[in-house]
Amino acid sequence: MTAANRILVPVDARTSLVTLIGDPVSHSLSPLIHNAAFREHDLNFAYVAMRVEESAVSAAVAGLRALEFAGANVTAPHKQAVIPELDRISEQARAVGAVNTIVRHEHGRLEGDNTDIAGFLTPLLPYADRLRSAPITVLGAGGAARAVAYALLTSIHPERITLAARTPEKAERIAADLAEFDASAALNVSPYESCRDEVRRSSLIVNATPAGTHPNVDDTPWTHPEDFSSDQIVYDLVYNPRETRLLREAYDRGAATIEGLEMLISQAAAAYAQWTGREMPTHVVREALRISSS
Ligand code: NAP
Repeated sequence: MTAANRILVPVDARTSLVTLIGDPVSHSLSPLIHNAAFREHDLNFAYVAMRVEESAVSAAVAGLRALEFAGANVTAPHKQAVIPELDRISEQARAVGAVNTIVRHEHGRLEGDNTDIAGFLTPLLPYADRLRSAPITVLGAGGAARAVAYALLTSIHPERITLAARTPEKAERIAADLAEFDASAALNVSPYESCRDEVRRSSLIVNATPAGTHPNVDDTPWTHPEDFSSDQIVYDLVYNPRETRLLREAYDRGAATIEGLEMLISQAAAAYAQWTGREMPTHVVREALRISSS
């Protein structure tokens, strides 16, 4: 690390603290992202990452409360487990059953939100008109796929969302849980191996599986790149590496591509706005991320 990319944060007796809790957290880019933004805004905030074991989630949230942290992010595997520890959760966090952001409000009330939903949608906004009434395929049926399906149902209103799952029962569960947001019965489930026609027809294909994540960078969630074409958008939630094999192969066939890092920055910006009341200076964040990876 050079002097140029070291993000210095002022820490003194009045510093407001924000933390990431999860297990593991040592790979996280969130401290870099938020500290760069705090610094740019000259805010006396500091962001740290803390590994919290499953058995200590309740104590960790009690600690945030007692120590008057300004807020927190929550990552895997604790996004569900923190919910009963909070005073209130937002409607969208309830809908997807997961909290990734905690905000301390008046009288020390801790409120949970899910900014993965806004984070996923923000990079898609330029394509929103094109996606309305179009077919979409989401690969995967975990927590991220659930947030993606909710975001698409409530904000994009596509004709059809196919959840392509290795374990279809998990996708069926998502469809059942989100039924109240699916008045036009857009959500349907397909086993992974039988959704090739749907992938070819889809205007947007979202990878919500970890396939392709470092160090397994030669993996891809879709082994038929010939199914991609220039009238499609391929969105990979994986952000390490930025350019995954999936995105490279989609790009080579003319598809528009969206990197997972865009979602990571947008979900962070939505949390930052709640903690600080300020709009995250994303140009500074991008610069910090670029420097840290060079
Ligand atoms: P998760 O709850 O563990 O779910 C993973 C899903 O992917 C499961 O349905 C799993 O199927 C499926 N899967 C795993 N490997 C697969 C493969 N090789 N082929 C097909 N399906 C496979 O994980 P998650 O929380 O949903 O996260 C998924 C990915 O999204 C992770 O890489 C995460 O880092 C990323 N993410 C990124 C952001 C961002 O800001 N960019 C935000 C959230 C998540 P089974 O159930 O059959 O195992």
